[in-house]
Amino acid sequence: MKKVAVIGGGVIGQYISWKLSEAGYSVSVFDYRKKECLKDKACSVLVSERIKDFIPIADDIIENTIEYCDIHFSKGKTTLQFNPPHLALNKEKLMNLLLELNEKSGTKFFFETRIKCIPKGFDYIIGCDGADSTIRKLLKLKDPKLKLGAQWFLNQEDKSRTTETFLRKDGFAWRIPRGNNIECGFFGESTERGKDMLGALIPVPGFPLIDAGLIFSNEDNIALCGDAMGLTKPWSGGGIIWNLYAADMLISNFPNFKQYKKEVIHFFWWKILKGKILNGLVNFFGRYFPYIIPKKIKYDNDFSVAFTSKK
Ligand SMILES: Cc1cc2nc3c(=O)[nH]c(=O)nc-3n(C[C@H](O)[C@H](O)[C@H](O)COP(=O)(O)OP(=O)(O)OC[C@H]3O[C@@H](n4cnc5c(N)ncnc54)[C@H](O)[C@@H]3O)c2cc1C
Repeated sequence: MKKVAVIGGGVIGQYISWKLSEAGYSVSVFDYRKKECLKDKACSVLVSERIKDFIPIADDIIENTIEYCDIHFSKGKTTLQFNPPHLALNKEKLMNLLLELNEKSGTKFFFETRIKCIPKGFDYIIGCDGADSTIRKLLKLKDPKLKLGAQWFLNQEDKSRTTETFLRKDGFAWRIPRGNNIECGFFGESTERGKDMLGALIPVPGFPLIDAGLIFSNEDNIALCGDAMGLTKPWSGGGIIWNLYAADMLISNFPNFKQYKKEVIHFFWWKILKGKILNGLVNFFGRYFPYIIPKKIKYDNDFSVAFTSKK
């Protein structure tokens, strides 16, 4: 039986290990965190309902359903109606579900194991070790552009269906009503100014990194996926849905990583470019000519397809 090492037990690493174990591979997952600390990776887990096409999400994992997003410009705001709607998921329950699916399909886990060199004794290696990927560094691949993200919580019930973002020159802040509490966060450029701004804004130490790029391994038996590959939506930094699509391409072509690369580029290059252009336009018009932007827009937040809402 072919042996596969997956480095990183985050959402994407575990999705891939589950599917490859089910397909009959002998899969080992390595993560430097303790099993119960996988949930500690900073992430809002606000994803579209498309997540259900990949992972069997039960109702008890959903903290709140979000239908609208108010984007606040310096003057005025626009309301996006998410189509499909979004779900604010409970991170701990999501990680537990993935662990359960993996355990049932026979994946072996090695927690509290930090990978510092390319592991030996495996036929294939998949680097799913996040934005600051060690595998990417060991392969001497160029690091993508890094961005900053941080989140914190207010102990206040809010079951409303509208999330809010506040555009700033260096990024944006957000507020997500999660039902039993409210999440606040910040996403921005990894500049000294961005760090200062973040430091001044948030009452939590440090900040995780999010990246935006598209990076592939040149080795025949090593692939990257997830944040390690740099695949995040350019307008929000959200990476889960896009990376689940990429993970499915990896799984369906496994172990032909060249074909996987071709499919990812074919599917994503235009979406990334379009996302960057639209993001730039919304930021520009939002800052200088907010009255030009329609007040209500129906919006597919996974693939940046927008059309003016009649409602
Ligand atoms: C503040 C914030 C909010 C976000 N909100 C959203 C959101 O609402 N929706 C959305 O879609 N996306 C969101 N994202 C992005 C999302 O979190 C990522 O796209 C997603 O988590 C990527 O999953 P992954 O499995 O690739 O990487 P990760 O979830 O980062 O998992 C990587 C794993 O690898 C392990 N690891 C790293 N290095 C090593 C090593 N050397 N050895 C062993 N283990 C290692 C880590 O412990 C970690 O468990 C957010 C990100 C941030 C920072």
